[in-house]
Amino acid sequence: MLSVDLHSHTFFSNCGIHTHLELLNQAKALGIKALAITDHGPLLDSRITPPFFDRLKDPVPGVRLYKGMECNLADLDGTIDLPKNFAKHLDLVLLGIHPNTEEGLGEDVYTRALINAISKNPAIDIITHPDSGTYSVNFERLCETARLAGVAIEINNSRVMLGRSTAEKMTRLISACKKTECLIVVNSDTHAIGELGRDEDVRPLLEAESFPTDKIVNRDPETAEAWIQSRIHNKRNLR
Ligand SMILES: [Zn+2]
Ligand SMILES: [Zn+2]
Repeated sequence: MLSVDLHSHTFFSNCGIHTHLELLNQAKALGIKALAITDHGPLLDSRITPPFFDRLKDPVPGVRLYKGMECNLADLDGTIDLPKNFAKHLDLVLLGIHPNTEEGLGEDVYTRALINAISKNPAIDIITHPDSGTYSVNFERLCETARLAGVAIEINNSRVMLGRSTAEKMTRLISACKKTECLIVVNSDTHAIGELGRDEDVRPLLEAESFPTDKIVNRDPETAEAWIQSRIHNKRNLR
């Protein structure tokens, strides 16, 4: 079980089914100390509402709420759909390739798009599920860029749990992260509440690769908080 889970969706994402408070109350019941709610960026038709970003302040005592957004590629040059007017309220910016991006363009195109996005958008903190079956990515090239930018590569439990990645593919990603010495984050990517905080599908893979714990940014609440705060100026300064 994760003590800090930095990727979850409410029904403000088209793919989510729970309210913010349902997720936070479940986090509290599970003993999770911090939860990032990271609904999709506007290109996936999510509801991006000012009261969540502007007015909701840690509504469930004992669970630190991080406000995030899982952004999408707006083009293949690395532009992302991060609304600048909300950036000042964001603690975390995630980027993943989602169905608004054309399929079948090949590994080099998707790898370059993510590398360009990291270079062009210092607000990005996490690259989500690069082991997606639909959009192949060169793990070592991506991880090397992530390392230089201090960006964390996501090890996404749901992908393995739901069969959208495989243990073999996830192991190749973990191995690339270890070889390039980039940071990683282990997340549930919760859409349905039973997924919250779960890491049991990827934890054994990290252990089998002897992945160094000190490269896991959400290994404990204090480390996660320090890492997030060390990068927050990249959001606050966006105009
Ligand atoms: Zn995603
Ligand atoms: Zn997600």
